[in-house]
Amino acid sequence: MTAPAPQQVSVADEVRAARAAFDSGRTRALSWRVDQLLALETMLKERAAEFEQALLHDLGRKPIDGYMTDVHSVLAESAHVRKNLKKWTRDRKVRTPLTIGPGRSVVHRQPLGTVLIIAPWNYPLHLALIPLIGALAAGNTVVLKPSELTPRCSAVLADLLPRYLDADAVKVVQGDVEAATELLNEKFDHIFFTGNETVGKVVMAAAAKTLTPVTLELGGKSPVWVDDTFPVEKAADWIAWGKCTNLGQTCVAPDYVLTTPDVQPRLVAALRESIHRLYGDDPRSNPDYSRIVNERHTARLIGLLDSGTVALGGDHDLADRYVEPTVLVDVPLDAPVMREEIFGPILPIVTVENLGEAVAAIRRNDHPLAAYAFTTSADAQATLVNDLSSGSLTINAVMVQLGISDLPFGGVGPSGMGSYHGEQSIRTFSHERSIFHRRNASDVLLRMARPPFTERGEKRIRR
Ligand code: NAD
Repeated sequence: MTAPAPQQVSVADEVRAARAAFDSGRTRALSWRVDQLLALETMLKERAAEFEQALLHDLGRKPIDGYMTDVHSVLAESAHVRKNLKKWTRDRKVRTPLTIGPGRSVVHRQPLGTVLIIAPWNYPLHLALIPLIGALAAGNTVVLKPSELTPRCSAVLADLLPRYLDADAVKVVQGDVEAATELLNEKFDHIFFTGNETVGKVVMAAAAKTLTPVTLELGGKSPVWVDDTFPVEKAADWIAWGKCTNLGQTCVAPDYVLTTPDVQPRLVAALRESIHRLYGDDPRSNPDYSRIVNERHTARLIGLLDSGTVALGGDHDLADRYVEPTVLVDVPLDAPVMREEIFGPILPIVTVENLGEAVAAIRRNDHPLAAYAFTTSADAQATLVNDLSSGSLTINAVMVQLGISDLPFGGVGPSGMGSYHGEQSIRTFSHERSIFHRRNASDVLLRMARPPFTERGEKRIRR
């Protein structure tokens, strides 16, 4: 007789188990939280090769690339949060007005409960595990839904997380939109979503039904301003690196460049050099150059190539999911490539007369997730700080702001709501509970503030 197939655990069962783990109370102890982070770090150190192979399989990313973006960065974040956790979860004393005291008023960070994390495919470990670090460090239990577009990475997470962490407190649900929809029908205490704007709206609408708070980490068109005060070769090196890392499939990748007509030809020449230094004559056969995640996205990118004049690159192969690093010039502001997040290795350059025009052009789109500028002009820097809104602003570099754990990471408006990393993750995954403990038994305040209001009493209050 063959043994019966193991009973498949339902989404509802997984959520119930995670909630029961929270209700057990054990996740509130600082020691449990620290243990979870230590276990996560052990997992990453012992299983780095498995994670790197999964990234190679799903996204064609070289192991050292995967190590830097999805293993080491998570290790660094976990260690930073763990070392500061006691300080960040300590009650914060605030002033108690004399008229209300004496007493002690504190802000107490309390875990929210059971949190749903929905992650995308482009950094499938980083964008699943960094929110997980915040949620666990704040004392929550978690249901994690990784992306179906990176199945090997999702399977490794589903296999390893329960082996290293508290298996009832961290549940991994694999699957596509159907699984995500089922999860969104469950009740959570917070939903943390990373992905595109359209799905962000679906998540927020589902959360609204139960008034569940959300953090939405979305995307958008992140502009780069380049002016003639900054060495153009250095700007090109940064931009080429940012645009080609993970083939531009990075939420904070430089999306397009705004510069003046005199800088443009020098910038194109410098980009040619920078890209050549990265990938040589034939990026296609260079193992350091990965591939677009799937055919649908490759076809979408190929469709954007005629939005301007190809100044550099332009080669592509749908079946191989290959798009060469490409620079487009003569790009009108209303060209298709300027109307959607590119999320690929295509860099449009738009020329404007000055920074004022550049700011106006950026404002035509939604507030970006990131804004970048290569300029040494203090006036230009001040304009970018004061006249633009974006999730972040980075001057004279791209993308590395993400590695500064004490800077909150998140968007504004349609590029997202809420933020995380470092202490901000603890804020995001905690309820800041107000606790006032009045010290003595005197009831003068109460007697003054309650009826009957005599003439004498009223005078005292007004005084
Ligand atoms: P996506 O929105 O398609 O998918 C993300 C997750 O949502 C996946 O787990 C997927 O299964 C799930 N999902 C898909 N459709 C759903 C639905 N109808 N209901 C519920 N869940 C659903 O995102 P993506 O295409 O994988 O990622 C690319 C986008 O994400 C880009 O816009 C990029 O800028 C953005 N992004 C933002 C950040 C950030 O930190 N702000 C990071 C990475 C990516």
